[in-house]
Amino acid sequence: MINSIYTHKEIFLRELISNASDALDKLYYQSLQSGDTGIKRSDFHIRIDADKDARTLTISDNGIGMNREELEANLGTIARSGSMAFKEAHGEENGEKGKKAVDIIGQFGVGFYSAFMVADEVTVTSKAYGSDEANVWNSRGADGYTVTAGEKASPGTEIVLHIKADAEDENYSKFLEEYTLRNLVKKYSDYIRYPIQMMVEKHRPKADAEPEEGKAPEMESYMELDTLNTMEPIWKRQKSKVKTEDYNEYYKSKFGDYQDPARVIRTSVEGVSSYTALLFIPSHAPYDYYTKDYEKGLQLYSSGVMIMDKCKELLPDYFNFVRGLVDSQDLSLNISRETLQHDRQLRNIAKNLEKKIKKELADFLKNDREGYESFFENFGRQLKYGLYDDFGMHKDVLADLILFYSSMEKKMITLDEYIAKMGEDQKYIYYAAGESVEKIDMLPQTEFIRDKGYEILYLTDEIDEFMLQMIRDYKEKEFKSVSAEDIAVEESADAQEKIKQAEEENKDLLNFIKTSLGDKVTEVKLSPRLKDSAVCLTTKGGISLEMEKVLNAMPQDQQIRAERILELNPEHPVMEALKNAFAQGDSGKETVKTYADLLYNQAVLISGLSVEDPVTFAKEICSLITR
Ligand code: ADP
Repeated sequence: MINSIYTHKEIFLRELISNASDALDKLYYQSLQSGDTGIKRSDFHIRIDADKDARTLTISDNGIGMNREELEANLGTIARSGSMAFKEAHGEENGEKGKKAVDIIGQFGVGFYSAFMVADEVTVTSKAYGSDEANVWNSRGADGYTVTAGEKASPGTEIVLHIKADAEDENYSKFLEEYTLRNLVKKYSDYIRYPIQMMVEKHRPKADAEPEEGKAPEMESYMELDTLNTMEPIWKRQKSKVKTEDYNEYYKSKFGDYQDPARVIRTSVEGVSSYTALLFIPSHAPYDYYTKDYEKGLQLYSSGVMIMDKCKELLPDYFNFVRGLVDSQDLSLNISRETLQHDRQLRNIAKNLEKKIKKELADFLKNDREGYESFFENFGRQLKYGLYDDFGMHKDVLADLILFYSSMEKKMITLDEYIAKMGEDQKYIYYAAGESVEKIDMLPQTEFIRDKGYEILYLTDEIDEFMLQMIRDYKEKEFKSVSAEDIAVEESADAQEKIKQAEEENKDLLNFIKTSLGDKVTEVKLSPRLKDSAVCLTTKGGISLEMEKVLNAMPQDQQIRAERILELNPEHPVMEALKNAFAQGDSGKETVKTYADLLYNQAVLISGLSVEDPVTFAKEICSLITR
């Protein structure tokens, strides 16, 4: 446990270096846009300086810098609003809580704040490019910060960490050691495209000393600026030279995630449009994923220079969870949002990437079921929306990626797995919708299908039924709800004839029940599908009871109502009771009315809906008990 927090702390360096690299990117991009020729990319660098005596570690860059407002907004806001998460990270260094707090830091992308995991005071001196003023931001952590005017010779940012004193369980001094820093840069930031430099001590033979015969020459030490990283973009390195861990680290540092990605896709295409893409499927949904704040898109690079952070044209909505980048030398550096939309190259790339992602997901499903199920828990809903959208146009891409809970397997299955088990006699893919697996299990409508030995897909997501209605069928097998009114056609001709006869015999009774229930139901009929239950509600037309619930939960004036059919079980003793009462003349009819009400409300409750008039319902039950 302690170990995992311990290893987490070192990421502060990765975060600060990534910020510095971003600041250099921004300056370069700005110079391209403004045509400023005074900026040379070859001058860009990131410096690390460790001072053991002062116990300070300094990370500096000659990037775009920040003015006073930016210092306040970028570094100050978190100090105020995020101080809780931050305090937790400090208060509880050990145990579960401490780990959670560190995760919070990663999750909310408060990269800069990770500095406080190793420092008890942080001083940021920054001078925005093009400004003459420098400012100093200083903070000891949760208590807030100050910004004062300061001095700085050239544009850029310098961050000084006052490294914490060593504690019993944590050696902070190591973050001042060349050895540690060198390793951390290699581990986390090797791909950074600007030199990360550090003054290091080196040794050489003394120049003036004449080496004696057979003796090692006398040595002297001197300081030299060393570049610690290889600087080659990770996606340009030879594939065989890059390890999974390297991609994982790259992903975590660049995309602000605290967990390794579930899958990595790297692909290069040479041709009409040449490009390299490095894509990641995250292992969990970001905290804002299902909000409107979430922005899809891939980073767009033109020959190694980032020209756009979130190019949304590169991803279809249903794959909006994919993170990553595309680097193409065929794209213009000054490409704008407007021209992008019509860029044929880009559309081409997007089409290829979609295929690639689909292939990767299919492979994921096939070769790592457990991993895929967890992926599906996170992002499955997005795939389902994709199936529903555009009138089911993306069925070919998405339908075989969807999982459903199976009544038989008691776990998630694919549609292909369902179909593989269908017998000759089974015409439809059956499904039942409800709030939860447990509730669907109890639906009387499922008895009949289950008894026939057919498998039922359980739909528990709001979107599920809408989605199936939109796509209609899969590999020529139609979807059918167990609550569909016309399900009886599956019964044998014999059974159907029997029901018809019974309905004829009880015509008056059924009509009477319908009349007494009024608008509540469209029809009252005898059911071939019930075994143990006395009644159930089914629906006619395009809207099911589950869909009614979903639609009415949305903010709108009009209430939507499914066309309800009350089905009675002809074999149930309740049927006898109804018949007997109905035969008793006027007083009996009053009883039938009450029974009809009770049975209807029962069916309503079983369907997971609420009784419209619970007071009358309760009274009726009491009068039944006290009779
Ligand atoms: P993130 O990088 O996820 O946005 P951070 O907390 O790491 O969050 O940084 C907040 C912001 O502060 C950055 O987005 C950037 O605008 C600014 N910033 C941080 N470090 C630097 C730097 N070295 N140079 C310029 N701006 C920086």
